[in-house]
Amino acid sequence: MTATILDGKAFAADVRARVKAHVSQMVNEHGITPGLAVVLVGEDPASRVYVRNKGVQTLEAGMASFEHKLAVDTTEQALLALIARLNADPAVHGILVQLPLPAHLNAELVINSITPDKDVDGFHISNVGLLGTGQKAMVPCTPLGCLMMLRAHHGSLAGLNAVVVGRSNIVGKPMAQLLLGESCTVTIAHSRTRDLPDVCRSADILIAAVGRPHMIRGEWIKPGATVIDVGINRTDMGLAGDVAFAEAVTVAGAISPVPGGVGPMTIACLLANTLTACCRSNGLPEPEGLTV
Ligand code: NDP
Repeated sequence: MTATILDGKAFAADVRARVKAHVSQMVNEHGITPGLAVVLVGEDPASRVYVRNKGVQTLEAGMASFEHKLAVDTTEQALLALIARLNADPAVHGILVQLPLPAHLNAELVINSITPDKDVDGFHISNVGLLGTGQKAMVPCTPLGCLMMLRAHHGSLAGLNAVVVGRSNIVGKPMAQLLLGESCTVTIAHSRTRDLPDVCRSADILIAAVGRPHMIRGEWIKPGATVIDVGINRTDMGLAGDVAFAEAVTVAGAISPVPGGVGPMTIACLLANTLTACCRSNGLPEPEGLTV
């Protein structure tokens, strides 16, 4: 048996196209152009690449892109002042502060200074609380992308056993909340979980968000399960996921590859979130299928 490959590249292209069409309609019918501001502090090479890609894709979707590149020694006061200006700017509907921030800056304080309605990363404590209580929130992009792929493949997820390996605030926890919202029976596993292979074998849906190349083996997977590999690990052999793909693909029913799986969905969902934020702030209907 060979699993269905969940093609994140194609899926992300479809999400971007739907965002673009909706943006064009907003511009034509309402004269509103959704705008995304991205703030980068310092020179981290990976972050620079991410920010550049975000800017390019924002423009390609027909939205306005505002890039703010600040020196590595920028003070907290200066960064907070910039965020206050962006919070007040009506042309800016989404604000993203690229993480990680240099060590002298308090990331929690900075993220929580973004007005929650413009927090397109979904990391503000208010959005975390809204998601946790099943209310309308800005949802973190990577888990949102995973959920979109799962919904497209399964339709209803109700009653399925979902195991999320990893409990970070960025991926694992919000992913678990989203799956609970879909009425899955959710288990969150982490580095202290006992008999992880057995826990994974109970999963109809297995989400790997660990950061350890090929840790999840084929024999840990229930035959026919859907496996979403969030891991992006740089190895001597190139990019690797958290799942041993060659083994897993012979057992799973469906699997997302690395690269070409969840990765492309993250920026596509950032664009979707910016559009959603713009619709909400203008009292317009939200784009269907691009949010929860
Ligand atoms: P974190 O390092 O913040 O969290 C990793 C989690 O994995 C922790 O909860 C940790 O447990 C758990 N873990 C570590 N080792 C083990 C183990 N041996 N057994 C079980 N659990 C373990 O990572 P992130 O959540 O930020 O990212 C996870 C992966 O996803 C990374 O590879 C990252 O690059 C990738 N990623 C990909 C994105 C994309 O766009 N596709 C976006 C964001 C992340 P504990 O809490 O006990 O320490």
